[in-house]
Amino acid sequence: MINVQHLDFYYGNTQALYDVSVELPQGSITGLIGPNGAGKSTLMRCMAGLEIPTSGDVLLDGLPILDNPRDSFSKLGYLPDFFGLPDGLSVIQCLTYAAKSRGIPDARLPDLLLETVRLLNLEHKLYAKVSDLSRGQKQRVAIARALVNNPSIILADEPTGALDTKTGEQIMELLTELNREGKTIIMVTHEPEIADYATRKIVIRDGEITADTTESVRID
Ligand code: ADP
Repeated sequence: MINVQHLDFYYGNTQALYDVSVELPQGSITGLIGPNGAGKSTLMRCMAGLEIPTSGDVLLDGLPILDNPRDSFSKLGYLPDFFGLPDGLSVIQCLTYAAKSRGIPDARLPDLLLETVRLLNLEHKLYAKVSDLSRGQKQRVAIARALVNNPSIILADEPTGALDTKTGEQIMELLTELNREGKTIIMVTHEPEIADYATRKIVIRDGEITADTTESVRID
């Protein structure tokens, strides 16, 4: 469970989040929805422990997320809104690095890697360089990287990015399936069709939560 308490966030003199509080229970699939510049990615990066808020707290399972970063990061998978994949590495190198840096012991690596590449249909691309992959394949590697430590919470910033509709749907079906298996999914989107995959929709505008609903929402 993620508990966001009274977050304020400033970039220099620009305030991006205003007193944001929200509780995200385990097992939910939640969309952080709103127009560009609303503060969605900033909020998600705070939830991932990647930004330190100006004031307020993010609790993960009741404890401040950065009190015990190693433990927190082992529970989280973060898919950034840009691929950020190292172009020069192969898929398998990239996933191995991600798993090791999140504390997966060597003995568990082969099984976890195999499971992850199967899930993302990447078996035939293991030794391909990231730079040689298509956009859709890169997105699948980025998702594999977020999943490789078998996290209980997946934070996905614009998970379908600029992918074509069919590839985007496949990725959303995968996230929905992972949610059915018990993982908590929190995603950022500004696309109404993608927002509809979320059973809970939290609308953010100008750094504030303006709606928290199970109904479809308009984004403009
Ligand atoms: P969203 O994800 O909803 O598009 P962001 O969280 O990226 O919104 O941005 C919220 C606000 O913070 C915007 O006004 C944006 O211009 C500003 N912002 C985001 N990142 C930075 C940054 N690194 N430096 C300065 N301002 C930023």
